[in-house]
Order: sequence, then C-alpha cells, then structure tokens
Amino acid sequence: MEIPADDATGFDQVSFYFNWAASHLDLSDDLRSLLGTPWRELRVSVPVRLDNGHVQTYSGYRIQYNAARGPYKGGIRYHEYADIDEVRALAALMTWKTALVDVPFGGAKGGVQCSPRQMSEDELNRLTRRYTQSIEHLLGPSRDIPAPDMGTDSKTMAWMMDAYGQIHGHTPAIVTGKPVELGGSYGRESATGRGVVYVLGEAVRHYELTDRTKVVIQGFGNVGSWTARFADLEGYCICGVSDVDGGTYNPHGLDLPALVEHVQENATVRGFPQGDDVPNDEMIELPCDVLIPAAIEKVIHSRNAPKLQARLIIEAANNPVTPRADEILTDRGIITVPDVLSNAGGVIVSYFEWAQNIQQFRWNESRVNSELQRMITAGFETIKRRSSEHSLTLRQSAYATGVERVARAVELRGFV
Ligand code: NAD
Repeated sequence: MEIPADDATGFDQVSFYFNWAASHLDLSDDLRSLLGTPWRELRVSVPVRLDNGHVQTYSGYRIQYNAARGPYKGGIRYHEYADIDEVRALAALMTWKTALVDVPFGGAKGGVQCSPRQMSEDELNRLTRRYTQSIEHLLGPSRDIPAPDMGTDSKTMAWMMDAYGQIHGHTPAIVTGKPVELGGSYGRESATGRGVVYVLGEAVRHYELTDRTKVVIQGFGNVGSWTARFADLEGYCICGVSDVDGGTYNPHGLDLPALVEHVQENATVRGFPQGDDVPNDEMIELPCDVLIPAAIEKVIHSRNAPKLQARLIIEAANNPVTPRADEILTDRGIITVPDVLSNAGGVIVSYFEWAQNIQQFRWNESRVNSELQRMITAGFETIKRRSSEHSLTLRQSAYATGVERVARAVELRGFV
C-alpha cells in the first residue's frame, strides 16, 4: 500500500490506516467497502444575517460514517478548513475511536466552514440555530448526538439543544458537552485533557520516562489548556505551549497558573513574561521528552519528523501526524500514542452525560473521573497488549481493534 503524501486529504490519510487494518484482519472485500465508506453525508447552506446587515452563506456538513455499534456520535467543528473532506476524515476517526474505547456509539462529525474568531456571539448564535434546523432531521438521542469540537463549546451546545427543543420539545440527550446547569455532566469540559493526562501517565510508566518529564503542548484551547493544567498538577515540567498566534518556551518549566492568568488577560500565550516567544512551526522541534499536539491536523509531517526531539508523542488533536511522518517516527523509535485513544476522554464522558440525561440522574465529579480513568486505561492496556503480541505500532494496534469491533457488529446485524 502506498503511503499517502503529506498534502493528501485527511480522509485519504485516515483511510490508509483503515486499509492497513482491513488487510491485517483479512476482511472480505464486501466488509472493506461497507466499512471504508461513510453511510450518509449531508451538505447544507447556512445563511446568517451578520451584525452589519449583510447575509453571509456558509457551508455546513454532518457526516454519519457508521452506526453499526450504536447511535452516531461526534463533534461539531467551526473552522476555516472544516470542508467536507476534513469532516469525513474526523467522522471515520470517531467510528474507530468509539469502538476502541467500547462506548455504545457509532461515528459522525459535523462542521461549518467559517471563522468563529472573526464572528460576534450573536452571529455565532444565529449560525448555530440555522445549522441545527438544517440537520435536525438526522439527529435524536438514539440517532445522532453532537458534541463540541474546535471552535465550538458548551454555549454552542446549549444553543443547539434549544434550537432542537423548539421543534421536538426539551431533549437534553440530543447533545453532550452542555453547560452543567442545562444537564451537562460534571467533568465533561475538562474530560479530553484529563484523559490525555491519564494516557500520558500510562505511557510514561510503561516506557520508563523520567519523573520530571519535559512536555511541550501545541494548542491552548479546550484540550491543550486542560491537558497543561492537569499535567502541571501531576508534576510534569510544562516547558512550552502555543496557540494560533505563537508559542512560549522556558526550558525550566512555565508557571502554569501565571500563564493561565496571562491568557485570560491577553487571549494568547504569546508575550508571557516568564518564557521566550517561539514561532509556531518551531514548537514541534523544541527539546522535550513528550510532545502533545492539541490543535489542528497534519502539523507533524515528513519535513519536521526527522528533527523532532521528543521520545513520546501523545496525539491530543485528531490526525496531527501524517502517515509519512508516522513512518519516520516509528523508524526513529519515537513512540506515538494515537488520537483514537489519546483524545477519547471527551467521547467517554459524553457517553456518561448521555446516559445520565436518559436516566435523569446525575453523577458526582469523582465518579465521572474515576470511570473515565478506568475506561481510558483499559483502552491503553488493550492496544499495548496487542502491539506487543503482534509486533505492531500502537496506532496499528488501535486501528486493528476498532475496525475489528465495528466489523463484528456489522456481521452480527446480518449486513454481510
Ligand atoms: P479549541 O478551538 O478549543 O482550541 C484550539 C487551539 O488550537 C487554540 O488554542 C488555537 O489557538 C490553537 N490553534 C489553532 N490553529 C493553530 C495552529 N495553526 N497552530 C497552533 N495552534 C493552533 O479546540 P479543541 O476543542 O481544544 O480541539 C483541539 C483538537 O482536539 C482538535 O483536533 C479536536 O478535534 C481535538 N479534540 C477535541 C475534543 C474536545 O472535547 N473538545 C475531543 C477530542 C478531540
């Protein structure tokens, strides 16, 4: 199988790993084509009246990749690059992720191609309502349940729940990642970052990294900032973090509480007085033990992979390493814990939130966190064991496990 180029589409890159797993599992051609194709794709026009009176029409998508194991589940992304291919790639990843961590969902993803940082809160509210109206016929607590992703948050989920409820009546289980006051789960907002740090702990123990492990994190949004905070509390040395405007680096460690305060005042990590400013493309190559990409896709590619200094990569973002870079890192002995496990804390606690909504019962935060730790640690042990037994990378092991479980569900349902 030819490895896709760094600039191949996200879906081609994710499909490369799927096809590897299908061959490894010796899946029939019938199964391979059923699992290698999205089950439903919807594109909608989302007209929004802007604050200046003009109407701007955005493209929105909801891609339902596979529902063999349960209702479709996946986030909603607002981003300039959230085109149909990117959303399709993310929907496929969700399918293997939910299967790998064994939550009873399929995989989906949605997106609107827009620049949320340039839009006012009122414009985003109108956009969210219009987008929800356009896709509501696909949604439902036992059909398809959105959640936040890049550019969206608990407020966006509250607007989605409200817009859906205007048509169908009050339905908290229609979205996860809602504000706690509206039926959200304790611990959901920080769950992805918390899960990343549980996975980091397992990997550091397993690969015997030192106590004062040096960590660099790219991205300081929901996932990156919670990862940094929990890793700091666990005693890791956070020596570099970045956001879209650039990064800050201090080889002796950044004072996290002071950095969080700096970001609250300046809306960027850049200019932090206790660190040196670093351009974004140099973040990836900084000296550290662990690199955690927690922003966008394809930031580790064949040009910077040979220069990486980390020994361990925890993929908090989706699809941050291209397949060509993945091969270079493997040859260099650098361990990568793949996205389908590392960032699964979000969907695990989304599952808890959905279950709590359906039961009309609330868990306390310590129960949420300990169940999260149990499930994501079990996922790590599963992929570690399979990789040791069959000489696979952790990513190959994760894909083999996820694809195998979805294939089994499809067979049990009698499709093939
Ligand atoms: P977010 O919008 O809250 O934050 C994104 C961060 O990335 C921001 O700090 C932004 O400034 C930074 N960023 C954007 N472009 C960048 C660039 N070119 N270089 C460096 N930094 C850049 O998004 P998020 O929810 O934290 O999502 C981050 C990643 O984690 C995405 O890949 C997303 O799919 C994945 N993820 C998120 C969740 C979740 O629960 N939110 C769950 C699983 C996976």
